[in-house]
Amino acid sequence: MATGFYTNTIYLEHDTGNHPENADRLRAIDQHLRYSGLLNELEVRPGRTAELKEIEMLHSKRHIDSVQEAVELGRGTLGTPDCVISPGTFGAALHAVGTVLDSVCQVANGKLDNAFCAVRPPGHHAEHDSAMGFCFFNNVAIAAEFLRTHFGYQRILIFDFDVHHGNGTQHLFEENAQVLYASTHQDPRTCYPGTGYANETGFGLGKGFTLNFPMPPSTSDEKYLEFFHNRIIPQFEEYKPDFILLSAGFDGHIRDPLAMLNLTENCYREITKTMRTIAEKFAGGRMVSLLEGGYDLEALALSVEAHIQELIN
Ligand SMILES: [Zn+2]
Repeated sequence: MATGFYTNTIYLEHDTGNHPENADRLRAIDQHLRYSGLLNELEVRPGRTAELKEIEMLHSKRHIDSVQEAVELGRGTLGTPDCVISPGTFGAALHAVGTVLDSVCQVANGKLDNAFCAVRPPGHHAEHDSAMGFCFFNNVAIAAEFLRTHFGYQRILIFDFDVHHGNGTQHLFEENAQVLYASTHQDPRTCYPGTGYANETGFGLGKGFTLNFPMPPSTSDEKYLEFFHNRIIPQFEEYKPDFILLSAGFDGHIRDPLAMLNLTENCYREITKTMRTIAEKFAGGRMVSLLEGGYDLEALALSVEAHIQELIN
C-alpha cells in the first residue's frame, strides 16, 4: 500500500492570471516534489471528473448552472470579484471534486493508505448556493457526504487547518452529527471571511459537531501546537472518527501574504503526524488530505513536502 498523490494538468486551465490563487501554486508543488525526489515515493494518480449528480449532493442546480453559464459567457468573475473565472474553470472545478471522490474511494476500499489531492480551485468557502473566496464547489464537503451516503461512515472528521474559516463546509454540515467539522483559523475579527467564532457549535442534531478554534494574529508554532495537543486532539479522541478528511490550507505560514499567523512548515509536519496517529487509532489509517489555500509559493511547496512526508512515514 502507498500514499496517493493526485495531480492533473486540467487544474492549470483554471487561469486566474495574477490573482493570488493561481496555477503557479500547483507548478511550485509539482516542481518541488520532483526536485526533492518525494514524488518517486508516491502513487501518482490523475483523478477523474465529477458527475453533475455528485455536485448536486450538496450544491443547488442553480449554483452549478451559474458557474457553467458564467464560463460559457466568457465572464471574468462569478458573484464576488475574488472568484475569478476563465474558460477552463468549470472543467477544473468539476475535476477537483471528482478527484477527491476518487481518492476517498481508493482509501475506503483499501487500495491506498492515505492520499493528498493537489487540486484547485479550492473549496471550503463555497456555499450550497454560491461561490465565495476563490471557491466554486466544496470539494471536502462533497467528499464527506459521499463517504456518508455511499460508504456508510457515521463519524467523519473534517479538520480544516487553513488560516481562513471554512464557512461553506461548516454551513453544509452544521445540523449533521455524522460529520464533525473542526477548524483552526485566524481570529475572524481580523481575517476573512469573518465567521468561525468559538460559540458557533452547530444546530439541532448537529449541536456540538462544529468546533471552531480561532487563533490570534502572530500565533507561533509553539502556541498553535500547545493548543492543538491540549485542547483539540482530546476532542478528536473522544469523537473517534471513522474517516478523516483534511482541508489542508498552508496560508497560516509566516511568509503567506494573505494572513497574519506565524506558523512554519514544522507546524504542518507536526499536525500531519498527529492526525495520522488519530487516523491509525480510530479509522484504520483512513485519511485524505486536499489542498485549500497557501499563497507564498516557496512556503507552500515546503509545507506540502513536510505534510506529505508525514503521510508516507
Ligand atoms: Zn485560506
